[in-house]
Amino acid sequence: MQQQASQQLIQQLQALAESRQDELFALLERLVAFPTVSPPARNTAEAQQYVESQLAACGFETSLWEVYPGDPNVTAVKCGSHSAQYNSLLLNGHIDVAEVGDPSGWKRDPFTLSLEDGRLYGRGVSDMKGGLAALLFVLGLLREQEVELRGDLLFQSVIGEEAGEAGTRACMERGCEADFAIVADTSSLAIQGQGGVITGWITIQSPETFHDGMRAKLIHAGGGVQGASAIEKMMKLINGLQELERHWAVTKSYPGFPAGSNTINPAVIEGGRHAAFIADRCALWITVHFYPDEDFEEVTQEIEDHLLRVADGDPWLRSHPPSFRWGGRSMLEERGEIFPSLALDRHAAGLQGLARSHEALVGAAPEIGMSPTVTDAGWIARAGIPTVIYGPGELRQAHAVNESASMEELVRYAQVMLAFIVEWCNTPKPSSPQPSYSQERMGLS
Ligand SMILES: [Zn+2]
Repeated sequence: MQQQASQQLIQQLQALAESRQDELFALLERLVAFPTVSPPARNTAEAQQYVESQLAACGFETSLWEVYPGDPNVTAVKCGSHSAQYNSLLLNGHIDVAEVGDPSGWKRDPFTLSLEDGRLYGRGVSDMKGGLAALLFVLGLLREQEVELRGDLLFQSVIGEEAGEAGTRACMERGCEADFAIVADTSSLAIQGQGGVITGWITIQSPETFHDGMRAKLIHAGGGVQGASAIEKMMKLINGLQELERHWAVTKSYPGFPAGSNTINPAVIEGGRHAAFIADRCALWITVHFYPDEDFEEVTQEIEDHLLRVADGDPWLRSHPPSFRWGGRSMLEERGEIFPSLALDRHAAGLQGLARSHEALVGAAPEIGMSPTVTDAGWIARAGIPTVIYGPGELRQAHAVNESASMEELVRYAQVMLAFIVEWCNTPKPSSPQPSYSQERMGLS
């Protein structure tokens, strides 16, 4: 009986979402109008205040707190009527959008939402203000219809995703627990995990600085002076990185990724001080992609171990080994970022429930696989919360000139989320302890 009642309720809610999609459009129109482009960033305060006011109007207890000046996060919670016994759900999305570039390439103003032939146009409609607007629309309908949710609903509207900044990471560091999390980033309504990305700096530093005139004594027989060019020594380490990258390409793989996706890119090199000197310092900025079953700690340890062995094979580097600085909390502030990977557990109750809600509405099972890009989802999974990426919008539209999204898909997304939230947050927590998520990090194709 109860099952039937909830199915009827879900269908009523989904019909409302369909018939009132102009309200979804209006919400998205407001979000798109805030030019929250990153870089330059530090411009999301007004947009986040708007999101906070929407959440408050939906009955959430909200908190707006600064991550960087002008870039606050919004975290919010709506306690369920039986918090302790029923499933909780965390919803996450980022408020920043990609740069617009040369606006003359745009057919319309990127910050004025328009709808033509069923497609929405505006910066962020696919990545990912469409997802954020749909979630706020859903929460508004649940509030208005006074739908009882027994478990807690948590919301994070974060900054900095586009510039590798620690918006979601900061939320998790403040403390956040949930039984399941959905990151509403661009996935075309596929349920996705992801590989990870970490950047790092490898630095060679000579304790002495030699004039260019000393080069002959440093490199020739009988010169008698021990020293080295940091730039030339870095060439050995770059060779070492290429060997490791090739080794990874043939020894590591993960279902859902083309072979060799685990690359090490020597992206930026800085070194030397002047043509009149021998380079006493050289720093290399690398970008490392790794698979969902790897943690960034183990991957960076592998790189360090390998490069220190390479260094060991060189008489000068042996006593002047490279130093390493991995990751960072912002590409803008400290030229470093981390996107932890996200493995999917196909048997997780949340993933299965979401797939059922999707299939019931769309009429076909969702694609379950791996995103070719990265999102903040890895930070939530690292906190021990079973997490998936599931959002509207198309990746080829993300960051594109004349970015667009399908209005129909946005409505579908809202409808699936209505069903899933009602079912999940009214499902009792498992009474006996279940095997933890991390015990099964299985591959998916
Ligand atoms: Zn995104």
